[in-house]
Amino acid sequence: RILVVGTSNTDLVTRIPRMPRMGETLIGHRFHMGCGGKGANQAVMAARLGAQVTMVTKLGRDTFGQMTIDNYRKHGVDTRYVFWDDEASSGVATIFVDDEGHNLIAIVPGASYRLTPAEVRQAEPAIAGSDVVVGGFEVPVEVTAEALRLARKHGRTTILNPAPALPMPDELFELSDVLSPNEGEAETLSGVAIHDPESARDAACRLLERGARAVVITMGERGALLCEAGGAAQFFPAFQVKAVDTTGAGDAFIGALAARIGMGEPLARAVVFANAAAALSVTRMGTQVSFPALQEVEDLLPQ
Ligand code: ADP
Repeated sequence: RILVVGTSNTDLVTRIPRMPRMGETLIGHRFHMGCGGKGANQAVMAARLGAQVTMVTKLGRDTFGQMTIDNYRKHGVDTRYVFWDDEASSGVATIFVDDEGHNLIAIVPGASYRLTPAEVRQAEPAIAGSDVVVGGFEVPVEVTAEALRLARKHGRTTILNPAPALPMPDELFELSDVLSPNEGEAETLSGVAIHDPESARDAACRLLERGARAVVITMGERGALLCEAGGAAQFFPAFQVKAVDTTGAGDAFIGALAARIGMGEPLARAVVFANAAAALSVTRMGTQVSFPALQEVEDLLPQ
């Protein structure tokens, strides 16, 4: 059982030949909508891999909120703790992509950012009944902190994905059983520039010193590094795949990691599994639609 506290956004993707100039109206090629938001992506990835997932998030009372809750239900995600905001819109990301693949993105977090610690406390029974609780920083820090505190109180395993990067109080390090930043976030948190597994190990050591029990740094096409308190660092190279679209790779990784830790898999094996799931996600266009099924991940893993 996994519980994710985080955002739900709708991505509105418009493909255009080139970026418009100020005041210009351009005709685009194509438009599509997709469900996104880091929390939502992580929850859907974990559910696709067979985990029982509860989502704690907040939506606006609009078409996008309805689409989002339908998407959770479609993936079998428990929506008992999806809250509704009467004032704000649902979270949306308006994305322009031009023919050269450049993008321009404006995010309105809306209801997603209006989740409160009191609402997280309402979800305490579900937190107590989960094996793993996942938090991040697309929701206010005090919301994530409350979720991790409640998880600790009930002896549950916590995963903190410190994204987007912000300076973090010591308490959040101490509340992290697994702290899993990407390279940029790990640099912000540790002050160590990362350019290879060695420097990633140095950064991970700093993060362990601040109180995390284990650190997993995702390193894009390089793979991932695991460092546990009192243990040696282990580097796991990425699976070799043809990358088409890396959007959401980090979320696929976190969702898969949570799913496997929730099943009781040892951390090192869960990291290898997450590496495989995230690698598969970059071989296809899109975010949630690019996430693999369990069988595909198993087929990619060495026997
Ligand atoms: P984020 O999307 O948060 O920036 P990363 O870029 O670190 O996260 O990617 C997360 C994970 O996705 C990596 O640890 C790796 O497992 C996988 N991944 C990303 N890019 C590739 C790639 N080109 N080939 C194989 N795996 C990849």
